[in-house]
Amino acid sequence: MKIPAWSANEGARRARELFAGAFPELDGPDGVWASPGRINLIGEHVDYNGGICLPVALPHRTYVALRRREDTRLRLVSDESGAARWEGELSSVHPEAEIPAWVAYAAGVAWALQRKGHALGGFDAAVVSCVPLGAGLSSSAALECAMGLALDEVYGLGLATSPAVRAELVAACVSAENDVVGAPTGGMDQAASLLTTKDHALQLDCLTGATTQVPFDLAAQGLTILVIDTQAKHSLVDGQYGQRRAVCERVAALEGVETLRQLPDPQGTLSRLNDPEAVRRVRHVVTEIERTQEFVELLTEGEYGELGALMNASHASLRDDYEVSCAELDTAVEAARAAGAWGARMTGGGFGGSAIALIEQGNLEATMAAVDRAFVDNGWIAPRFLEATASEAGRRINEEEEAL
Ligand code: ADP
Ligand code: MG
Repeated sequence: MKIPAWSANEGARRARELFAGAFPELDGPDGVWASPGRINLIGEHVDYNGGICLPVALPHRTYVALRRREDTRLRLVSDESGAARWEGELSSVHPEAEIPAWVAYAAGVAWALQRKGHALGGFDAAVVSCVPLGAGLSSSAALECAMGLALDEVYGLGLATSPAVRAELVAACVSAENDVVGAPTGGMDQAASLLTTKDHALQLDCLTGATTQVPFDLAAQGLTILVIDTQAKHSLVDGQYGQRRAVCERVAALEGVETLRQLPDPQGTLSRLNDPEAVRRVRHVVTEIERTQEFVELLTEGEYGELGALMNASHASLRDDYEVSCAELDTAVEAARAAGAWGARMTGGGFGGSAIALIEQGNLEATMAAVDRAFVDNGWIAPRFLEATASEAGRRINEEEEAL
């Protein structure tokens, strides 16, 4: 099954409809804001190591219809199953609060903005999304960023006007996830959702925070990216992310640097380590940073033919050295390659979630069928597919002006 991306107007219509149904006494929202999910082309598990990653915004977005209130009440509703309607005070959203996780993602941004000194009040908001939840495609950042854009505008904060000021909005959304939800994630997802541009990948230097737009127009090459949501979620492995992060931080500290990116002599570090697990983890990070740099160079030179090999090497490194892949991801990647993909790899944190395959446009249906077959053969539930075209960052949806 392929998950279509809603047009801006379709998403806005659905958000307004949910808003009208949930808050019938109000005269509609102040507006609709939307922000995308993402894939990461390469550069996985390097964001918290000061490395480089290369996310691309999906055409799939989360839409928030929001109306400012004159008091400090919050009312939230989402059309996602499991996300019941929630109502509370602005002051009841904070890191120690006992609130549902989805509320922490959505309203945590308000807490983070307030902590940075911005004055906010209450709001009513309705959330709809065509980004699959928990698929490693960053529905969480899409929600945070859509909320952040909405609050920014209705409270006149001025944090969305240029990429330079958007950095502060990115930071607030990261803080919502790290501090209010309590998920120790890096900053790639929120930057991808707020700083990308159409037909470009976002080169994000996680050491300096610098961003560069790298041309990424696959359609012009007759290529596309097939995203495979394996629908696998290995929840028994909670804590694995933190463990890996801790190993990286321990080795960096041992070598007297803040992040593994800053190792003066990565090979020397690897030869000095006597813990084989630490060697594997660090080797992934060091080689992944090199692969990402090479990938960017190839894109800049328009050498699309060589990208696949780097994607394949990245997957092998994540599978064997970082050990964050799983049978479903490995199978998806292998089936796509066998069907003719130029390259394929897991994307996002791993242990389930999604894989991406760089394929020829004409090979889309055949690749989906091959992956489907492989999942049937293993007795797994069917994967879901999305097509990733490099899309724009989050923004307000102006329904009258949208291209149809
Ligand atoms: P991913 O970001 O890869 O989709 P996460 O586990 O980081 O996976 O985030 C998923 C969580 O984000 C959901 O369980 C839910 O709490 C929240 N979330 C994301 N999108 C929505 C939405 N549209 N409505 C309600 N909650 C959402
Ligand atoms: Mg997430």
